[in-house]
Amino acid sequence: MPELRKDPIIGRWVIIATERAKRPDQFAPPDQGPQEGECPFCFGNEKHTPPEILTFPYVTADKKKADWQVRVIPSIKPMLRIEGDLDRRGQGIYDMMNGIGAHEIVIETPQHINNIADLSLEQIDNVLNVYTHRIADLGKDKRFKYVLLFKNHGWAAGGGRIKHSRSQLIATPANPKRVKEELAGAKHYFDYRERCIFCDLMKQELESKERLIIDIDNFIAIVPFASRFPFEIWILPKQHSCDFVSLSDSARKDLAKIFKIVLLKLKIGLHDPPFNYIIHTAPFRRVKGTYWKTIEDDYHWHIEIMPRLTRVAGFEWGTGFYICPLPPESAAKFLREVNIENG
Ligand SMILES: [Zn+2]
Ligand SMILES: [Zn+2]
Ligand SMILES: [Zn+2]
Repeated sequence: MPELRKDPIIGRWVIIATERAKRPDQFAPPDQGPQEGECPFCFGNEKHTPPEILTFPYVTADKKKADWQVRVIPSIKPMLRIEGDLDRRGQGIYDMMNGIGAHEIVIETPQHINNIADLSLEQIDNVLNVYTHRIADLGKDKRFKYVLLFKNHGWAAGGGRIKHSRSQLIATPANPKRVKEELAGAKHYFDYRERCIFCDLMKQELESKERLIIDIDNFIAIVPFASRFPFEIWILPKQHSCDFVSLSDSARKDLAKIFKIVLLKLKIGLHDPPFNYIIHTAPFRRVKGTYWKTIEDDYHWHIEIMPRLTRVAGFEWGTGFYICPLPPESAAKFLREVNIENG
């Protein structure tokens, strides 16, 4: 019997379609896309990309670029533009504003390495450090309400032709709908119970262990109860915090560790599948005390990882219901058992 499951945070239903269930090892990644060309992201090819916004280690502009470990550049084809005013306006019932925002590429290594899972722990920590720096810096721009940090890995996940590990961030002048749904769900739960829904969810997952992949240091990785996709994974800090950018140096090192383990399990267990990940953190809060009155207590930042092994089709588009052909419990068990020792 298929099962309908409801996500406790945003109330989205998914169908766990056991009738169409496949075994975890039957999900083959889709084709790898076209041949890759010369890589503009490798060390030595900096002249093929726009001048950097930042390099890590954080060096001044007049220093040689030879030292960079992580490099952030503006996107060559930005979805939103950094210059100008928002100019909010209406046309009858329609609202619009200028396409102001920031779109940056975080080049995660000077070497031609495709999967972030293959970077050293130290390098993954550097990447996370750069993420927090860029989000905090863009937060100073009053025009922006949110920064979404995301990765497209592999052709089927929108990763493009060049196989060089990188992620992107887009700062937006409006809060994204998906984020607002989560914020509203978390606030609603908090209004009722005066507790954080993510903290409660973690407590329950740590007790049942059915969907737990790993519990290490100050983080856990789980397959969510109402997974949209096979092998969907959430990583959550055990210590309550609504802001990813407030991560301490030691917590960030712990995060690098669990992140590497989880991404290696995906890579080894599922033969380097295409995937996306996103970081969900609290929006910038310019006005204290009103709209976001309880956000520090009710929201909890996290990372969502979505392997792209199935396609979203008509039913999903029409309903917002997702069909997941693998029970989350089977996915978690499979991932728990993937041995990454030789990764
Ligand atoms: Zn490269
Ligand atoms: Zn919490
Ligand atoms: Zn989320």
